[in-house]
Amino acid sequence: MPTLEPVPAFEDNYIWTVHDGRSALLVDPGEAKAILTWLATRRMQPAAVLLTHRHADHVGGVAEIRRRHPGIAVYGPADARLPDVTVAVGEGDVVVALGMRFHVLAVPGHTLEHIAYVGHGWLFCGDTMFSCGCGKVFEGSSDLLHASLQRLAALPTDTLVCCAHEYTLDNIRFALTVEPDNAALLDWREHALALRRAGRPTLPTRLADELACNPFLRCAEPALQRRLAGPRGGGGFVDAAATFAVLRSLKDAFG
Ligand code: ZN
Ligand code: FE
Repeated sequence: MPTLEPVPAFEDNYIWTVHDGRSALLVDPGEAKAILTWLATRRMQPAAVLLTHRHADHVGGVAEIRRRHPGIAVYGPADARLPDVTVAVGEGDVVVALGMRFHVLAVPGHTLEHIAYVGHGWLFCGDTMFSCGCGKVFEGSSDLLHASLQRLAALPTDTLVCCAHEYTLDNIRFALTVEPDNAALLDWREHALALRRAGRPTLPTRLADELACNPFLRCAEPALQRRLAGPRGGGGFVDAAATFAVLRSLKDAFG
């Protein structure tokens, strides 16, 4: 049974690994040193690299990993801006690595080439979804990101969401400004605070919990729609995509 383990990198990134004790899949190794040290101390070999999108904090370590391990397969979006990808994958493709199968979903919105990997009950979603949050819209539109998040939200509810950043506490602080009475969110805040005080990751989270706590997945909730329609929509009906756009811009202003 393969083991899932996050390796911290930079300030708040996680490089997700799936390993069998000897070989490891590496998801978004943004920093070579962190992951190579982790592999060396555990006497493990990298089996393959999975990339979600082109941002440096996700791909920055790949060139060095390839130098040390020539021939390693690097799966990632078909995009010239990811020169270290050796196997370009996109919507509908299946990555077979370390005896496991991961389905590729196109999830544009944070960036246009962004993809996610789903398999064995895990979702590797890069910067598309965070606990109680989502990525910034750098390319495309908030509608595009909303549609991508809706696809992730439709996965089995026991899916473990492996996000690439430890943004949970900041995201909860923002989420409480738009859903101050959300009991599941208030519970998650207490639990997440305890995890961080103990120096532990708040991730992965269960998709069922994100559906209960993450406002960016809750834009069809009438109460949230009414709240966000107030100042901008004149109190009128706002649909889920419009609610999402307002929410994303409020979060941008929140920091
Ligand atoms: Zn990013
Ligand atoms: Fe990132």
